[in-house]
Amino acid sequence: MATKEQIRQSLVASSIAYGPVPSRRLGRSLGINNIPPKICSYSCTYCQLGRTPRKEVVPRSINKTAKITQQVRTKLKQATDNGELVDYATFVPDGEPTLDANLGREIEVLKTLGVRVAVITNGSLLWRQDVRQNLRKADWVSLKVDAVSEQIWHMVNRPQKSLKLQTILQGILEFAQMFGGELATETMLVRGINDDLGEIKNIAKFLALLKPTKAYVAIPTRPPAERVMPASEQSINAAYQVFIETLSSVEYLIGYEGNTFACTGNFQEDLLSITAVHPMREEAVAEFLRNAGASWEIVQDLIKKRFLTELEYQGKKFYMRKLHGLGCQHF
Ligand code: SF4
Repeated sequence: MATKEQIRQSLVASSIAYGPVPSRRLGRSLGINNIPPKICSYSCTYCQLGRTPRKEVVPRSINKTAKITQQVRTKLKQATDNGELVDYATFVPDGEPTLDANLGREIEVLKTLGVRVAVITNGSLLWRQDVRQNLRKADWVSLKVDAVSEQIWHMVNRPQKSLKLQTILQGILEFAQMFGGELATETMLVRGINDDLGEIKNIAKFLALLKPTKAYVAIPTRPPAERVMPASEQSINAAYQVFIETLSSVEYLIGYEGNTFACTGNFQEDLLSITAVHPMREEAVAEFLRNAGASWEIVQDLIKKRFLTELEYQGKKFYMRKLHGLGCQHF
């Protein structure tokens, strides 16, 4: 049984560092909360942390670098002692991580501990050179691109009033060109706000310039700040189809973190795992069935039980895992 001192140390360490927790994108990820709730440059309609009371855009020193790195060090040691692997230490705070002026230094110190570092950012401060320099030290960065049209950006991300979309997009582009690590993008689709095909096509054009390793199509999966609805399965599938025309790798991030692509030998489970990550064309499902020696009845049964849904895009049929249940929004 843990001693009182061990419990106390663990509580102190968990105020900033937590986990490791399983993450589909990052394997076993140790979360770092370097920003207290809720310091952010945006107040996204879908934010699970509620509205941002006072939006900020100037990075400042929030926690001492030593405090953060010490807490991560303690968590890493606990994980090693428990035989747990940690693939990434991930800055995924209750706000915007690049508002921490010491982020670059923190990343440098964490890398000396032998762990890869990831940052999940809204990208709104990348027009600042100091922010680009801090962020480029990470091994993996996810950038939010929910809109590229002024009006839609205001509706979905509700930015701090001095921010300018074109300046931000230019900063994001500059960052993508200079960054040597792995770049991912995340586009959160909200029904009736940014799920229109015209905006999705414009977002896809911009993402193509960034050449991300992977572009994620996401939907709000936790109770959001406002009464917004996730985009429909039809819109999510359309976004996937538009993105995949110009981007090398596109995946859904829609709340199913399970056995992605693990071949369990159970055809139904395998089909649901794959279609939780991207839609499958009718022909691909048919081939999958043939290889498994199974019949189309299984698909009909999954549709009937509301696990799978059939969609149409440009005259072709696609199959996608049906949306229900809540999952992790950021990881
Ligand atoms: S979702 Fe992220 S970027 Fe948007 S308001 Fe919440 S913390 Fe800020």
